[in-house]
Amino acid sequence: MDQKTRDDLLTLFQSKLNEAMRFYLETCTRCGTCTEACHAYASMGQVKYIAAYRHEIIRRIYKKYFKGRGKVWPSVGEAKELNEMALEELYEAAWSCTGCRRCMVYCPFGVDTQMLMSIAKLLLVGASAEPEILTLLADTSIEKGKSLELYKEGFLAGLKRLEEEVVKGWQMEAGETVIPVDVEGADLLYVALAGAHSIVPAAVVFNAARENWTLSFFEAVNFGAFVGDPTRTKLILDRIINEATRLKVKEVCICECGTAYRVMQQLAGRRPFKVSSITDVQARYIREGRIKLSRSTFKGSITYHDPCQMARNAGVIDAPRFILRHLTDDFREMTDDIRYNWCCGGGGGLVALGEDTLDFRMKSSRIKTEQVQETGAQILATACENCHTQLENLNDHYKMGVKVRFLSSMVADALVA
Ligand code: SF4
Ligand code: SF4
Repeated sequence: MDQKTRDDLLTLFQSKLNEAMRFYLETCTRCGTCTEACHAYASMGQVKYIAAYRHEIIRRIYKKYFKGRGKVWPSVGEAKELNEMALEELYEAAWSCTGCRRCMVYCPFGVDTQMLMSIAKLLLVGASAEPEILTLLADTSIEKGKSLELYKEGFLAGLKRLEEEVVKGWQMEAGETVIPVDVEGADLLYVALAGAHSIVPAAVVFNAARENWTLSFFEAVNFGAFVGDPTRTKLILDRIINEATRLKVKEVCICECGTAYRVMQQLAGRRPFKVSSITDVQARYIREGRIKLSRSTFKGSITYHDPCQMARNAGVIDAPRFILRHLTDDFREMTDDIRYNWCCGGGGGLVALGEDTLDFRMKSSRIKTEQVQETGAQILATACENCHTQLENLNDHYKMGVKVRFLSSMVADALVA
């Protein structure tokens, strides 16, 4: 690695060194409490997947370049040179971590591995050593924000094809708009993912609840956040913030995408609208008597996987349980304390990398399948696209014999007129 590249990467490293990050870098006592916390270590037993081992790589680079003792006496200061080999180790550490923060719950000092891995991901982006496909997808999202007019016609034609399915799910009255788009003054802007599965059930429930809503032109997914690039993350986020501001909506409702929800909730800054997850919104409709659900639509017991980005990392815990109590008399928790729920192993961009990560995702999440199977449930519900894909992959791989369902589509299927 030449000096200029190293200097540029160290400038990126420095940009991450706020007070919280310095605390995480300087506090770990290597007590080992987090050893069993990571699903990858618990499933595979390899030291490199222990949370503290992952951050030690970052910490040693920090000691070498940002701490006095490491600069003058590297061997005693446990300092590590930032070179090609270090980048390979950072890749291994960061791209096998889902950012689930289960280890953080165990750590007596609350050391945040997800934050420390964000340094690793940023250095990899700076060195053009990140998974390139995620950067390309992020750039496509940003481009769509800049040239919306080019995409509008195709998007609206695609929606027309979905309208019949929405009417089948909920009888509309003549003259009503089935999937409203670009409605200024709507109360709620719904930000979906690409695909009917994210739009149709949500539209059915919005119409049943007589919501004054409008659908976003943009997909909720934030590939900038997956790849760990703060600039791209912000540009992708801004498309939705600008649309919500232009339409003067009161609420932005994010579909079942854990990262999209957490990013909008925690990184959007001051904004003139409320941010909700679709799970929260559907629970509210039930509470307000705007929709009613049947408890007899689904046969068999139901368990629920809390997406880490929704529950542990953003506090959406009660709403899914409230909904599930209206869907079944046989709901089975996976764990007594949601904070310690096992990650499904698909987050942090791993599912987005598809087949490339499939083998690791299956091996590193064996512990999750045991947790699901111990419930004895026949239906496995969740509220995140990544988790749903990963759980379906686990279901096939380990022959769990469950039916994996999106919670929002269960709500749509169980609507009572
Ligand atoms: S954040 Fe999750 S995946 Fe990453 S080290 Fe901690 S427990 Fe493992
Ligand atoms: S539990 Fe916290 S302090 Fe202990 S080794 Fe893990 S990260 Fe370090």
